[in-house]
Amino acid sequence: MAERPYVSFAEVKQKIPIPDVLAVLGLADRFTRTKGTLTGVCPLPSHQHGPNPNPEQFKINQREGLWLWHCFGDCQRGGDVIELVKAMTGYDNSHVRFWFAENFGDRLTLQPSHKRKDQASETSEAPKKEMAPANPGKEITQEATLAKAANKTILDELSPLKPLRFFLKLDPCVPYLFERGLKPETIRRFGIGLCQKGLLKGYVAIPVYNYPCPAGTNPIGYLGRWPDDSIHKGTEELSPPRYKFPADFPRNRLVYGLAEALEATEGQPLIVVEGSFKVYHLFQAGFSNTVATFGASVSDEQAAILAKTGRPLIFLFDGDDAGRGGAKSAAERLITQAAVRVINLPMGQVPDALSPVELAQVLS
Ligand SMILES: [Zn+2]
Repeated sequence: MAERPYVSFAEVKQKIPIPDVLAVLGLADRFTRTKGTLTGVCPLPSHQHGPNPNPEQFKINQREGLWLWHCFGDCQRGGDVIELVKAMTGYDNSHVRFWFAENFGDRLTLQPSHKRKDQASETSEAPKKEMAPANPGKEITQEATLAKAANKTILDELSPLKPLRFFLKLDPCVPYLFERGLKPETIRRFGIGLCQKGLLKGYVAIPVYNYPCPAGTNPIGYLGRWPDDSIHKGTEELSPPRYKFPADFPRNRLVYGLAEALEATEGQPLIVVEGSFKVYHLFQAGFSNTVATFGASVSDEQAAILAKTGRPLIFLFDGDDAGRGGAKSAAERLITQAAVRVINLPMGQVPDALSPVELAQVLS
């Protein structure tokens, strides 16, 4: 009999997402995907189903870089990708190792099983040295690398974003922008200006680019900001909407100002704010390392994009319930993938109302 290859469970957990295992088991089409979560009827052979199985009972998602499942029905059990294969097949450890070697051998480091005794543990020598307590910084880096590898699957599952076929010529001389304190340098840097035709006619158009974005590539879309706040007072329903998002604008998959923020700021954290005008304000206050998420709710995709930069992250959202809740939720999802800090501004406070000195204080 041929030697069975040895597969490290630690490596399996890092490299093999549960959706890929479902595909091998022929179960992929039994689950529906909403954001990052797959939901469906419990597939475990041990689950005794009634006449109307509950399609909400079994959930699969990624937490802290690890794929996990849970049956909220009668099973009341859950686990990682290894536990899932065990529960589905009834195999023991050595059989499960063999199953992964057979189905995912191309993604795993296969070692002949007789060499196994030479290994002290599942971790190889080199990473173990890095994990030594004397060097805590490297440990974080290694964790971040693992999580980044896991995140890559979320982003890679999505079809690439398509840049627009056109490029809008915008007029940078907009009184409203000067009234809001924007300097010509800021207007140039972010390419914003008044749009004179089309859907955004009369609006300040804000080009939003994918990242990375090769030179000469068009934006993914333009956001509109109506350049007059006065008409919004008391006549709300008659006014043009303050912000205009194109219907198909993929706001969940874009982080505003990322290319600009990463440029020439190596070694600095990324400051994350809620909107583009806050990015402009921070840029003018000396914080060119600022990006925005188009609102207080950070999507899983945006979180993955932020984690992928490898930069420490500082959330500086508005001092209100939405801002605090959004920053907290984002930080919880990112905590194992990046060094994350949340700055809770006092209630009613917003970053764009802070002076450069005050910003430097809250960010220090
Ligand atoms: Zn179940």
